[in-house]
Amino acid sequence: MSSVFTFALAGNPNAGKTSIFNALTGARQGVGNYPGVTVEKKEGVIIHKGQRANIVDLPGTYSLTAYSLDEVVARDFIIEQRPDVVINVIDASNLERNLYLALQFMELGIPVLLCLNMIDMARARNIKIDSARLSSLLGGIPVVETVGRRGEGLDRLLEEAFALARRRLPWRPLTISYGRDLDQALDLLTPVIAEKIKTDGSPPASRWLALKYLEGDQIIINRLQADAGTAALLNPVRQKLCRHLQATIEEDPESVVADYRYIFISSLTRAAVNYGPQARMELSDKIDRVLTHRLLGPLFLLAILYLVYQVVFLSGEAPVDWCENFFAWLGGQARESMAEGLLRSLLVDGVIAGLGGVIGFVPLIIAMFFMIAILEDSGYLARIAYILDRVLRIFGLHGNAVICLISSGGMTGGCAVPGIMAARTLKDPKSRLTAILIAPFMNCGAKLPVYGLLIAAFFSHHRAEVMFALTLLSWTIALLAARILRSTLLRGEKIPFVMELPPYRCPTVRGVLIHSWERIWEYLKRAGTILLTVSIIMWALMTYPGLPAAELERLEKAQAAAASEEERQSIANRQAQAALAHSLAGRAGIFLENYTTWLELDWRVNVALLGGLAAKEVIVSTLGTAYSMSEEQWEEDGSSSPVPAAAGSEPRLSLAGRLAQDPGWSPLKALAVMILVMIYSPCVASLSVMKKETGRWRWPLFSLCFNTLIGYLLAAAIYQAGRMLF
Ligand code: GDP
Ligand code: MG
Repeated sequence: MSSVFTFALAGNPNAGKTSIFNALTGARQGVGNYPGVTVEKKEGVIIHKGQRANIVDLPGTYSLTAYSLDEVVARDFIIEQRPDVVINVIDASNLERNLYLALQFMELGIPVLLCLNMIDMARARNIKIDSARLSSLLGGIPVVETVGRRGEGLDRLLEEAFALARRRLPWRPLTISYGRDLDQALDLLTPVIAEKIKTDGSPPASRWLALKYLEGDQIIINRLQADAGTAALLNPVRQKLCRHLQATIEEDPESVVADYRYIFISSLTRAAVNYGPQARMELSDKIDRVLTHRLLGPLFLLAILYLVYQVVFLSGEAPVDWCENFFAWLGGQARESMAEGLLRSLLVDGVIAGLGGVIGFVPLIIAMFFMIAILEDSGYLARIAYILDRVLRIFGLHGNAVICLISSGGMTGGCAVPGIMAARTLKDPKSRLTAILIAPFMNCGAKLPVYGLLIAAFFSHHRAEVMFALTLLSWTIALLAARILRSTLLRGEKIPFVMELPPYRCPTVRGVLIHSWERIWEYLKRAGTILLTVSIIMWALMTYPGLPAAELERLEKAQAAAASEEERQSIANRQAQAALAHSLAGRAGIFLENYTTWLELDWRVNVALLGGLAAKEVIVSTLGTAYSMSEEQWEEDGSSSPVPAAAGSEPRLSLAGRLAQDPGWSPLKALAVMILVMIYSPCVASLSVMKKETGRWRWPLFSLCFNTLIGYLLAAAIYQAGRMLF
């Protein structure tokens, strides 16, 4: 009944495998040749507490890529024979280098046990390894300290090896990040490979195969490209990645992979190993002493964030003005040169005022993406995650959630869709769900035009400060929400994790340009499609069904009969206003006014917020359309002096200008609206990716209701408190 297990001893050359093999097998060792190859592989039998196991001493290797025959033999044995446990013998006095192979076993997913051999040497060199912490950081992989030469720790080694084998764990591959470019390629390749190997009995290691494929492992490439269909799917991805990496950082995938593995390892040892006082310090480490310092680190972070906003607003200011003036001018030109009618309204109010309002803020977004690219390429973005990780723990969040939050727009300018998807790296379902639910609180790139608009209209002297405050507020809300969720609906354990810190690098102009362009292009593509469509829909909702024929006739007659131009204008204004109020959107907005009384929002904002569910930029475009359509009405209300003689000759105001002069708005209301926009329901794209990632409608629905409620209550509280104080 007791089956015989197979253990494989694997590790770098000179880690002590043979010493351990000999100590374990004693006299029972046998030496055998592998069929077909001449590389030696020893096999033996061990008996531990009455249980037998075959043990195989594999050739020493540094990697699992097919560079040398030794590596091919070791790898083929592991993949084809699938030993029950791989005992990875590690030279503990050279931990970093040895963990490189260990990491690859973990990525493969085979049950692995780390044997920290030569622990005597490590101690002699004053290297203190916290094995328990190492084990927990690696997701509970057993870690045993041994001195192979003297046979110390071998009992425990066998104990753990048999225990691990008895659990008969399925292969569980570890996934680490290889940076945005490679991760994307891996995500594309993995399902294709999974489909291909489903039938051929390979171990379930499709991501690992994808990685080897990208690393350029010739054996894997030949195997995967054996059939033309698969090759046609895989090859373009690899080619594109190679070209892209070459263009941005002048590296091939292979060295990027190696870099990230070492990043992962050094982050691991940073947490679990103490190198004693005489340990070397590299420049990166010296910089990190300050930038990731417990107290100084967060202060630097805040200062850098503030600086980024200053730069963004300063450099975006002039171009935003140009864009706004251009669209205001364009609208005026179109209004004058076209005959009055539906087409003119569609073009002027729907497309130019709507889309133009948003595009006006694109320079701001470009500046923001540019700054983010600089932070990312220099390596500082990873430090932000590292610093915030400590904060996040307090709120019951998994450290990896930082990545989700930052890509959702943690420093403004991101998107909750990739943010929510990034939560996949969180293994524990409850932490993952928490991260998914709080990601939409961040200030994504689509909220930026809304802030830009209201800041330009009401806080033009404190732009960076307001942005800074909004960022802090979004984090506060996200963290409080996480705290609440983690202690109610999503209560659970925290799992330790490794934060990867790449070395600092001076960003190259080329790299920064390419990386920011990628983000900008994504943004523009979205704006060009969704935004244009939704702008037109919103325009239609504000235009139809139009005034009843009888009413229209009456007003037109009145206009024709008007004594003066002034009177005619005033009747036209009333007509525009009545038509808007009568339109579908107008009616919906006016109906909603009953529910937004605490904030005293008028119908236009209500409709804009409703449209913002499609995409948050729509808030700006809808306000643009609504204000453009009711412009005449505004001119009447806003000016106590007689209406200017020729409406076309005065320069048209930008949307921000119109808002600033609208008596219904105030800085306090602008602040409340920004807070509401920050918090209320995620957009449709985020909601649907939430459904996809959680597999249920329950969570997006929860988000829609919960966030909207919280957003409204908080905004209303601030508005009412402000009203009382000022
Ligand atoms: P292999 O290449 O992995 O098979 O390594 P070997 O078993 O041949 O060992 C390489 C060298 O390290 C030999 O000289 C061993 O005596 C020595 N060695 C093995 N284990 C230990 C240990 O735990 N501590 C120390 N100090 N030396 C060891
Ligand atoms: Mg050996």
